[in-house]
Amino acid sequence: MKPKLQLSREAEILELSEDVASEDTVSGRVCPSRICEKKEIRLVHDSFGKGKFDGMLVHRGGEWVILCNYDNGNSPGSTRERFTIAHELGHYHIPEHRRQLLAGCRPHGSHAGAFDGAERPEELEADTFAANLLMPPARFAPRLRSLKQAPLESMLYLRKEFDTSLESTAIQSMRHDGRVVAMAKWNDDALAWPRVSDSFFRETGYRQFLLRQRSQLPPDCATAAALADPDSRFDPVVREVVVTAAFCFGHVAAGGNRDILLREQAVRNGRFGVVCIYSVLNDADRKRS
Ligand SMILES: [Zn+2]
Repeated sequence: MKPKLQLSREAEILELSEDVASEDTVSGRVCPSRICEKKEIRLVHDSFGKGKFDGMLVHRGGEWVILCNYDNGNSPGSTRERFTIAHELGHYHIPEHRRQLLAGCRPHGSHAGAFDGAERPEELEADTFAANLLMPPARFAPRLRSLKQAPLESMLYLRKEFDTSLESTAIQSMRHDGRVVAMAKWNDDALAWPRVSDSFFRETGYRQFLLRQRSQLPPDCATAAALADPDSRFDPVVREVVVTAAFCFGHVAAGGNRDILLREQAVRNGRFGVVCIYSVLNDADRKRS
């Protein structure tokens, strides 16, 4: 069972990250390496091996150090490195994580940005901290509302503005965009993980995401089309179709009142697979965000 954060715990982390963000800057992009500089956390970039950790927070001889692994694409100033440092800053600021390191527990290597793929709650907490540090809700939500675009187009726009990954931007958008019902992250042949927005999970009862394997997908659905797009494409195309809730979620009676129409939008995210967003087609079905 993958970890999932309690809403109260998520709210705590969100408040913490928002404080750290506004300490850094009240407008514009938050800069994780500048935060390190101010807090005298030393950044060390080196080759630690491909596929090994992205980042690691170490407390040694009274000094805090963040190691960033070049071999996983964490070069200074890159989008990935920003997220990696923000994730390690999560371990630094979340009191329980910090106490463990101060007590001499072995530091762990982090694979930043795994989100729902994370194996341990601490990792999910640090990812949640990182997303909210880089996209502080007080700045992110008003920008999202002002865009007036379809959900996936908004995410593609905002990820450039906030310099964040598509996945972390999509998860953040889901929290603030009442139109978004669910997202699904696909690797090449299988679902990596699905996430249903809190309100549609709790109130509408969309709990079980049915699509698991590429072979289950009708060839004309948006996810199948995006999976067939080449991963080298520089400017990705958004694939879009209309589906029904009963097609995507278990325990939804076809034709019943929970079987609403959904807009399925999918885009290839380079070699990182495909991100698929399900949102309400009719405004009357949206949730208050
Ligand atoms: Zn970590």
